[in-house]
Amino acid sequence: MLLVQDTTPQPRRASPHDDVDGPHGDAATGAAGIGDDRAMQTNGHGVDLRIEGVSKRYGSTAALDEVDLHIASGELVALLGPSGSGKTTLLRVIAGLLPADAGQVLFGDTDATRMSLRERNVGFVFQQYALFRHMTVAENIAFGLRSRPRARRPDRATIRRRVDELLSLIQLPGHGERYPEQLSGGQKQRVALARALAIDPTVLLLDEPFGALDAKVRVELRRWLRRLHDQTGQTTVFVTHDQDEALELADRVVVLRDGRIEQVGTPREIYDAPASAYVFDFIGRASVIDGVVASGRFSAPEQSDDFEAPSVEDGPARLYLRPHDAAIGAPGEGFDAAVSAVHIRAERIVVELAVAGQPNPFETDLVATPGITLPTVGDTIGLQPLRYRVFSN
Ligand code: ADP
Ligand code: MG
Repeated sequence: MLLVQDTTPQPRRASPHDDVDGPHGDAATGAAGIGDDRAMQTNGHGVDLRIEGVSKRYGSTAALDEVDLHIASGELVALLGPSGSGKTTLLRVIAGLLPADAGQVLFGDTDATRMSLRERNVGFVFQQYALFRHMTVAENIAFGLRSRPRARRPDRATIRRRVDELLSLIQLPGHGERYPEQLSGGQKQRVALARALAIDPTVLLLDEPFGALDAKVRVELRRWLRRLHDQTGQTTVFVTHDQDEALELADRVVVLRDGRIEQVGTPREIYDAPASAYVFDFIGRASVIDGVVASGRFSAPEQSDDFEAPSVEDGPARLYLRPHDAAIGAPGEGFDAAVSAVHIRAERIVVELAVAGQPNPFETDLVATPGITLPTVGDTIGLQPLRYRVFSN
C-alpha cells in the first residue's frame, strides 16, 4: 500500500474491515510528524523538555495542577503514579494531543505550547497495539516517513534502508513482510516503537506500552528498552503505574499524586529517601508504627524505647519501615511485640507481629536461609528497626 501526501494522521483504509488494531482513534499518531513542513527537526537524540506551570482541569478535577518538570536531552524519565494521578494527561500535553489550560511546554529553545502534535514531531506508543492491521510490519514502520510532504519525504531506497535498520534495532530482522496478526504482543509493541522512532522524534513518549503484556514479557521488554535507550540516547518519557518497572528502567522517576508532582529523583533516591509517606507506601511494601514526635524523637504508646526522628515536627507521626529493614531480637530491645503468625513463602518468611499499643499487625521479612530458626507464634520479641523513616501525620 502506498501512502502519498496524506495530510491526516489516519491511514487510508483498504476495506471497511481494515482498521487500526486498537481502540484509540488517534493511534496513528504513533507515527507523528506527518505531512507538516514545519515539523521540528532533531539531532537524532531528541531535545530537552521543559514543562512549566502546566495545569489541566476536567470540571472540578485537577488532572494536572501547576506541574513543573525539566527533562534533559537523552534522559529516560518515568512518570509513576496510581491510576488517575495525571500521567496520561501530562504525556498528552507534552505530545500536543491535549491543550493545557495554563503553563508552557518548551522543546529545547522552542515554545511548543501552541504547536500541534505534527509540528512537535513526537513519537508516541500506546498501551494497546496501535499498528495498522492491513499493513505489513515494514509498511507500519515506514508510515511516518512515507506520508511526509514530498519535499521532506526520503526516497524509496532510503526508507527501505531505514526500515531495515529499525528492524535490526528491535531485533526483528527479516520480519518486514509479516502482518501484525502474525506477531506476538511483545513483538507488536517493538514494531510500534520502531514506527515511533522512524521519524527521528524530538521526544519519545510511551504510555504504559507494556501494560497489556504478561509479567515475564514485561520484564524482558523493559530491560530490552533500557539497552535500546543506551544505544539511541533518545529523550524518552515512559508512563507506568508499576513501581518496579519505573525503578528498573528510568534515569529519573517522577512520582505523581492527584495531578501534582510528589517527588522527582533517581530510582535510588526515590526508594531510599522517599519524600513523603505517600511515596514510601507507593514504592514498596511498608510496615507502619503509629506514635508521636517530640523534640526530634519518635515514641509509640506502650513502648519504652524511642527513636531518632531528626527534622520531623512535633506531633502525631508514623514510623515507616520496609519489611526487610527490621530485625527480630530479644525482648526489651526495640519495640515490644508478640509473634502472631508465620507465613512461609518461596524466598522469604513473613513474620506477623502484634506490636504492643498498635492497632494494626506489623509484618517483617526473614530471608529463608537453610537451617533458619523460625519464630514461634506466641513468642515475645524485640523488634529492632534497622532503617526507617518518620513522617508527620
Ligand atoms: P492516569 O493516566 O495517571 O491514570 P489520567 O491522566 O488519565 O490519569 O487522569 C487524571 C485525572 O483526570 C483523573 O481523575 C481522570 O478521571 C481525569 N480525566 C482524564 N481524562 C478525562 C476526560 N477526558 N474527561 C474527564 N476527566 C478526565
Ligand atoms: Mg493513563
